Amino acid sequence: MSDRNAGTLYLCATPIGNLSDISERVLETLRSVDVIAAEDTRNSIKLLNHFDIKKPLTSYHEYNRYDKANELIDMMRQGADVAVITDAGTPAISDPGQVLADMCHAAGITVTALPGPCALITALAMSGIDSRRFVFEGFLPPDKKERRQILGMLEDEMRTVVVYEAPHHLLATLEQLYEHLGDRNIAVCRELTKKFEEVKRMRLCEAIGFYKANEPRGEFVLVIEGRSSEELMKEKEDKFRAMDLEEHMSMYESQGMDHKEAMKMVAADRGVSKRDIYNQLIIESNGRSN
Ligand code: SAM
Repeated sequence: MSDRNAGTLYLCATPIGNLSDISERVLETLRSVDVIAAEDTRNSIKLLNHFDIKKPLTSYHEYNRYDKANELIDMMRQGADVAVITDAGTPAISDPGQVLADMCHAAGITVTALPGPCALITALAMSGIDSRRFVFEGFLPPDKKERRQILGMLEDEMRTVVVYEAPHHLLATLEQLYEHLGDRNIAVCRELTKKFEEVKRMRLCEAIGFYKANEPRGEFVLVIEGRSSEELMKEKEDKFRAMDLEEHMSMYESQGMDHKEAMKMVAADRGVSKRDIYNQLIIESNGRSN
């Protein structure tokens, strides 16, 4: 239950480069709240000075995200309205704003979001790559094992994949994406909404060659085409056709399926009818008993 006397948490989207992208509503909110929590106060002070906003500023970042959230929640319980802004874009998208929003919900504090710039959505729109279905991975995990696990899960991903990356890690990430996902189409989106904005559409191996020759600079979003369903189906069919029928049946039966269910699955995998499988199994079993 939310406390009617408590303040509100406002998640305010700020520009990812071009200051004109800030919304009227964000400016009004930043002017009206009691306190602004910023990921990097030195960075945000420039933005606030530019718009002549003078408000108490406090830092809210990855390393104080739990303790500071409790402090901010206490302030909101006493009626203060708090705006949260991060270094760029929409708070809670690959930055600590998410923890604060989560803890406010748990504490019964009203959370609202003022939409605006977001590198993920800007890159996806500009990429021209299928945006009907996509997965956002944010930054791939730095831990090697965890990273391999995520990349392994993306190998057969048919949806468009969006990844954030810093310039000094770009080349290694492109190489790992190539190793796991193959030579897919990619849009390398750089410095969005800024002076040197660019979107490079190429194959992953071309991107590797390009950034080996040209040192990556600026901020990047990678938009990678999903695996084609035809290719995936063909690969599966080839794999199953290479198995003999008995092997294929026991693969499903060992997973707990009964004979009928296994026949249905095997028929679908091989692109034939259940009757064909039934007949083939009879022929094979007669062949063995003769
Ligand atoms: N909350 C932000 C958002 O809404 O997009 C993202 C924050 S995350 C800590 C920072 C990453 O976003 C950068 O490393 C980069 O991958 C991406 N990014 C932010 N601004 C960008 C820009 N102008 N051009 C390209 N990528 C950008």
